[in-house]
Amino acid sequence: MPSTAFPAQLIDRFGRTVDYLRISVTDRCDFRCVYCMAENMTFLPRADILSLEEIETLAKAFVSLGVKKIRITGGEPLVRKGVLGLLQNIAAMDGLKELVITTNGSQLPTLAAPLKAAGVKRLNISLDTLDADKFKAITRTGDLHQVMQGIHAAKAAGFGRIKINAVILKGRNHEEVCGLVQFAIDNGLDISFIEEMPLGVVAQHDRAEAYYSTDAIKADLAQSFNLLPCTDNTGGPSHYYAVAGTATRVGFISPHSHNFCGSCNRVRLTVEGRLLLCLGNEHSVDLKAVLRAHPGNMPVLQQAIVDAMQIKPESHQFNIHEQPVILRYMNMTGG
Ligand code: SAM
Ligand code: SF4
Repeated sequence: MPSTAFPAQLIDRFGRTVDYLRISVTDRCDFRCVYCMAENMTFLPRADILSLEEIETLAKAFVSLGVKKIRITGGEPLVRKGVLGLLQNIAAMDGLKELVITTNGSQLPTLAAPLKAAGVKRLNISLDTLDADKFKAITRTGDLHQVMQGIHAAKAAGFGRIKINAVILKGRNHEEVCGLVQFAIDNGLDISFIEEMPLGVVAQHDRAEAYYSTDAIKADLAQSFNLLPCTDNTGGPSHYYAVAGTATRVGFISPHSHNFCGSCNRVRLTVEGRLLLCLGNEHSVDLKAVLRAHPGNMPVLQQAIVDAMQIKPESHQFNIHEQPVILRYMNMTGG
């Protein structure tokens, strides 16, 4: 079947256009953030994970079906060997508008400039606290100083609109929300606050007790900043506000308090080659099996992706007051 038989866009049963793919290129990480991983994680054996060539083929299939934006994530994407070459090849794909990355920042002191040269457009860098001891407590193995150097390296490499991602937990870092916004303003960055999502079983805190809502964060910020709703909200899960008198935008990703599923435009590819149709449901298609059963057969792969849109669920099922129904951790999910 010629590839022209396929639709120019991926559209699900609810009429949502899927033009954004998030790819997890590794489940491994140099950090062990308390909300993301257990302390002693078992990582996937090599044979189970997609090769870089397989990831590239899958990316190509999605781009041929109208995907305009790809986010590379993990685990920590920048610890995967050979990732720069993969990024360069994906960035050069015809039809792709934006290749972006979510990273913990630890490798940016050396990789920021090569990433820019490879064609990566924007970076999201995770940073939950400005306190070195708290940073160590949250990430278990991370070093705040290294991440700060990474942020400076990214700015020096010429990345614009760098966004900080901060997961806010009551009792751990909730009193830092104003400090984090001030840090973003001082450094010309944007920032998004994320409500913790119940992915995998975590031991160090009770998720219901640690829940700190978007509305609570907004109330805290209102004491120090004037937040003006942005008109350019793009239909993604983040709702953005401009901090009056600054270039900084503040976003809120609120799966619990403000459901964002109605405008969902994204799917996720795990490093095992499973296409997840929704962050908060297990509906998935094993694209690695398709790829390995039909090597080099792009139309079969494209058909599997088109068919997968039929099982994309209408909305997620998160409930922080119950044990997680989703047993995969965020590092497996490609957050
Ligand atoms: N390692 C990279 C990083 O930390 O930016 C990329 C992968 S990480 C899984 C992507 C984002 O997911 C990070 O901003 C992280 O803070 C967030 N995250 C991890 N576990 C989460 C959870 N249970 N709920 C909400 N966000 C989570
Ligand atoms: Fe690693 Fe990112 Fe998960 Fe932290 S949130 S453990 S940095 S993958």
